[in-house]
Amino acid sequence: MAGAALAVPGLVGDGGLVRLAPNLGWRYVDVPALLAGHPLAAPVDGIPPLVVDNEANLAALGELHAGPPGSASFLHITGEIGIGAGIVLDGVLYRGARGWSGEIGHIPVQPQGRPCRCGGQGCLERYAGQEAILAAAGLAGADLPADTAATRLADLAGAGDPAALAALADAGTALGVAVSGVVNLLDLDTVVLGGGYAPLAPWLRPPVVEEISRRVLTAAWSPVTVRPAALGARSAAVGGAASVIRRIVERPVGWLATSSTSGSTARGTTASPC
Ligand SMILES: [Zn+2]
Repeated sequence: MAGAALAVPGLVGDGGLVRLAPNLGWRYVDVPALLAGHPLAAPVDGIPPLVVDNEANLAALGELHAGPPGSASFLHITGEIGIGAGIVLDGVLYRGARGWSGEIGHIPVQPQGRPCRCGGQGCLERYAGQEAILAAAGLAGADLPADTAATRLADLAGAGDPAALAALADAGTALGVAVSGVVNLLDLDTVVLGGGYAPLAPWLRPPVVEEISRRVLTAAWSPVTVRPAALGARSAAVGGAASVIRRIVERPVGWLATSSTSGSTARGTTASPC
């Protein structure tokens, strides 16, 4: 095994410190410290083999490395309980000045709207997050895992359930409002609907496209492609694997020295690279 990656739906700092993951109830969780003594926490050439990163960022990297050829500048949105985004500019993940970019779920879409667990009001995730969509579809309190929730909603929408269709239309409109702001700011030509949004794309995409057409200044002559993630819910896993491999490629000496002496158990040459 060459390493492992942990995708966290929250703010992850250097060294794997999770500063805040509100939907997990995590605050200042030092993941490598929790794994002290485990082989994954033992540094190789000064770098631990465990990659801890924001889930939306890893999903965007997965789509960048293993998705279909196309735009090198896109927004990948992961829709679960929270909503995160990975911003890829010219083929490179844009993390922001301090590494906290992509918190699209807390862009206000109704400034005086519903209170959000972040302390703000009217945030996107209060209108297009999993809990909001389930509640609007009459499934409040269902407490379903993200993939199950998306499948349930897709089944209902596919069967023509009016509440599910209305819930997805409203969520898509809110999503389109937020996405339009990002596209206006960054001039992206592609928006990828990932995570729990991927199977719901047939219903979310039309209102997102409609809002982009209304709100993006350049939409008339520079269309924006809105599509589901090619990797679906596997994007973050693929992006995590790519991150592990990239670390080795960038600093191969330590890993090669370790692998030559450790056989196939910890960081050997015969196991899967991720
Ligand atoms: Zn918020």
